[in-house]
Order: sequence, then C-alpha cells, then structure tokens
Amino acid sequence: MATTTPRMKITYSTLSADNEELQSAFDAAVEKVRGELGRSYPMIIGGEERAAEQEFEDRSPIDTSIVVSRFPVGTRPDVQDAIRAARDAFPAWRDLGWRKRIEILRRAADLISERQFEYAALMTFEVGKNRLESLGDVEEAADLLRYYSDEMERNDGFVRPMGSLSDTEHTRSVLKPHGVWAVISPFNFPMALSGGPCAGALIAGNTVVLKPSSDAPLLGYKFGEALRDAGVPDGVFNFVTGPGETVGAELQENPGIDGMVFTGSYEVGMKLYKSFTRDVPRPIITEMGGKNPAIVTATADLDEAAEGVMRSAFGFDGQKCSANSRVYVERSVARDFVDKLVERTRQIAVGDPTQRRNWMGPVINQRAVDKFETAVTEAKGDGGTIAVGGEVLRDGDTDRGYFPAPTVVTGLPTSHRLFRDELFVPLLVVGEVDSLDEALELSNQTEYGLTAGIFSQDDAEIRRFLDAIQAGVVYVNRRAGATTGAWPGVQSFGGWKGSGSSGKSGLGPYYVQQFMREQSQTIIGQEPPAA
Ligand code: NAD
Repeated sequence: MATTTPRMKITYSTLSADNEELQSAFDAAVEKVRGELGRSYPMIIGGEERAAEQEFEDRSPIDTSIVVSRFPVGTRPDVQDAIRAARDAFPAWRDLGWRKRIEILRRAADLISERQFEYAALMTFEVGKNRLESLGDVEEAADLLRYYSDEMERNDGFVRPMGSLSDTEHTRSVLKPHGVWAVISPFNFPMALSGGPCAGALIAGNTVVLKPSSDAPLLGYKFGEALRDAGVPDGVFNFVTGPGETVGAELQENPGIDGMVFTGSYEVGMKLYKSFTRDVPRPIITEMGGKNPAIVTATADLDEAAEGVMRSAFGFDGQKCSANSRVYVERSVARDFVDKLVERTRQIAVGDPTQRRNWMGPVINQRAVDKFETAVTEAKGDGGTIAVGGEVLRDGDTDRGYFPAPTVVTGLPTSHRLFRDELFVPLLVVGEVDSLDEALELSNQTEYGLTAGIFSQDDAEIRRFLDAIQAGVVYVNRRAGATTGAWPGVQSFGGWKGSGSSGKSGLGPYYVQQFMREQSQTIIGQEPPAA
C-alpha cells in the first residue's frame, strides 16, 4: 500500500553521522548547490511564473554575504490572482478522485526523496540546519505526502456507509473538500511545514495557495517544483511570496479562501485565529509556539537525561517549536544533572553547518541574536548563573553569521519570565524543585502546551506525568531528545492550549479529515453511485 523509499531513511532520530556514503553525498550536494546560490525565483500562479517589481534577498544566516535566493515581493493583486487560479482549478482536482490524487502525490513524495540531498544542502544554506536535520526535514515532507495518502486509502476516501431506517433507504457519510486552502509556513521547518499542510489539503481534494516565511522561501518553492514534476495540474498548487503584513493579510481577508493552516508564533497565530472567522465560519488550524519542559526526577538515569535534554535544547540551535527550553530537576540530583549537562554542552561543535564537524549552526537572523543577548543580560542581572555559554561566537568561522553559544542558565526563580516566554534561541533555564508534583504544576503554568518530557525510572511517577501533563506530544526517558523528534505515522505532532487550535495533530491519523466537511447522503430506492 505505502510507497517505499529506495534508500536508507534519514529521520531526526538518525543519531549516527558516521555513514560515509551519506556524508560524501551531502558534501557533493553542497558543492553542487553552491553554484546555484543567488538565483532569482518566481511566484507560481495558475502554473505560470510571476515576477514582481521588487525582489527581496534570502540571505544565509551562516554568512550574510551569501545570497541564497531572491524572491518577488508579492502584492495583494498577486495573491488575488493566485486565489482565483486556485478556485478555477478546484472542481477538476476534486473530481479527479482521491485514488488518482494520491497516485500523483506519492510520485511527488518519491521525487522529493530522490532529490533529498540537493534540497537538504539548500536548506542548510537557507536556514543553517545541520546536515542530518536538513535531510530529516526533506524526508519528513516526503513522508507526510505518503502518510496522508495512506490515511486516505485506509479510510477508503472517507466514504462510510451508515444505518438505514427502511429497506428502500441508503445512507452514507461522505467527507468532501472545502475548496481553496491558504497555507502560511514558518522558517524553521521550511519544507516539512510547507509541505505537510499542503499535502493534507491537496490529498483531501482542495487546491492551495502557499505563502512561506520570507526567511526561508526557497524550500517551499522546491516543494512546488516536485509537485509540478509529479504531474499536479496548473493552479492546484500556487505559491506567493512577500511580507506577512500584505501577502499574508490578503490570504486572511480574502473571502475566496475557504480554510487556512498557519504555523508560526503565538502572536501572529492568535491574530489570524480571531480575524479569519470574523464574517463567516471557516476552518483555521493554527500550530503555534511552545515553552517545552523536561522534568528530571531523583530516580532518573542522569546520563540519559542530560543527553536527551542537551539534544532537545540545542538541536537546530533551540529553534524547533518542540525545543526543550526549561528543565525542572529534583533538588537532590540537580547538581549532578547540571554537571553532566554542562559537560555535554561544552562538547557541542558550533560553526558552519555545511561542515560535517559542526552539530550546531546559526540562529535565523539578527533579531534572534538580540533576543539571546537580552535574555543573557537579564539572567545575569536577576541573579542567574550562566553555567555554560552566554556569548555570541565571533571567530573566523562565525563572524559573518549569527552564532550564539549553547547556553544553560541556573539559579533563577522558577517564576522568572525566562521560564515562561518562548525565546526560540539556544538558551535553556534549569530550575530546582522539591517534588514531581511541583514540577508538573510549574510545567502546566503556561499558555503553551506543545511538547514535554520526563526522565524517571519509577512507574508511578511516569504514570502521574502521563496523567497530568498538559501537552500534545510527550516523551518518557528519551535519550534521542527529551521533547523533540516526531515523525509522520509515528508521533502525531500538535499543541494544546496556546500551542495549537485544532486538537488534531499533524503527522497523525486525524489530520486529513480536517481539510474536509461532512455530507450525509440519503438515497431512496437505489444503491448510491460510487464516490
Ligand atoms: P512567525 O509567526 O514570525 O511567521 C510565521 C509565518 O507567518 C511567516 O510566513 C510570516 O511571514 C507569516 N506572517 C507574519 N505576520 C503575518 C500576518 N500579519 N498575517 C499573515 N501572515 C503573517 O513565525 P516564525 O518565526 O517563522 O516561526 C517560529 C515560530 O513558529 C515559533 O513560535 C515556533 O514555536 C512556531 N512553530 C510552531 C510549530 C508547531 O507545529 N506548533 C512548528 C514550527 C514552528
């Protein structure tokens, strides 16, 4: 049923970087794409390329003298055209039927997998992810297409026979696409979080207008390229670029949009959530930020805990929505835990992530560096101790980019704002607690509820954590990542509370249905025609 990838599958849990074939394939891809950097790319509207009067530069956070790509500063009329094109393309895409749609989209998934190294190398230049993270992001986009296609098939296109009240009556429930969906994506998973929501919408039979982050437009464009090459008809997928305040706002206000998926910050997401449905009910899925806690109890394996926390706090430089940004550790083991964490954090190689030796790269832009520096100053001023890190690296390898050192802060009161606010930088605060109950209470005292983790060897503690924690994605004793690392069909991924609006996660079995609405069909006297 599911299509298989031809090669070794590289996911976020692929811890081993010592696969020589993988490493040299990535090195070759870096050299290949280096020659392509700086190109101008168009928007895609109704299958046609569209430029604009102005372009913006997509510069690399590794070295800001590198222009990765140039994209049009789209305008409201461009977005209006894209919505029109999507509306025109909708009836034929819907009527193609789900079997043909998933055939095309599975082909797109295979093209993405075939191009995994090239796309990943571009992603490393564009957002500064290390090679395994970039490879994982690309393959995740492909697997999202596969998994949601499998779900459509497993559910037989979501056509379900219902009961009947007489012999002559035939009734069924049919889920049908809405029409045109807008997808607004963030910078940090530029292919998976552009591709995943588009995949859900398209498989369900909708057409799409995608607006990527201006910090990372290229991988959204590449996703569209794979769709086109797989045979997705013109107008089914449209791609517009430009500022959230105009291009994003038009998507939000235009009545030609039937539904929206937004992934990004709480501030922007909540604004959209409130305004999108102002005049008429329309579905909107908002996936927002997190302030993800890890709890370390006195019974924990402290090596496992230190490793899992380090990986989740500093993987992709603290810029995963699932990043572990606060730890509550029981006082009796706090010192040992922090020592182990600091020791591991010191060993992290930070620098140009196109180089194999570097596990951490840059943060996305100067604003993120400013946030980091403000947080460090505040921590010091409020009585905290910088157990490791605290500085922005500016040596030969890093002085043209944005490279904060991985930083652990101890000694702040757990009421401090650094335990509450999402910073999205490599800075972790560690607080001491007297009990698991206190840790749970503090963990839940936040507007967010995305991911959480616990390290404990005690079954009762683990049960208590699973019962009480308010988060959409939870992990127990996970060395590979205390709070991070989800995969389509393996871990559903979505937030509770201020982290997500739908209660039905991406990557999981209830996702595709959200892009459809139910119709009950009662037919008297004859069997219903095939759906
Ligand atoms: P952001 O909110 O700054 O931007 C997200 C997208 O919204 C971008 O495409 C941006 O151009 C657009 N936008 C900005 N203003 C807009 C407006 N007024 N109208 C319409 N669109 C607008 O987020 P970011 O910095 O790109 O990403 C980081 C944030 O995303 C973090 O908060 C992170 O936790 C969150 N995130 C959440 C998830 C999740 O699954 N819950 C996944 C990844 C990232």
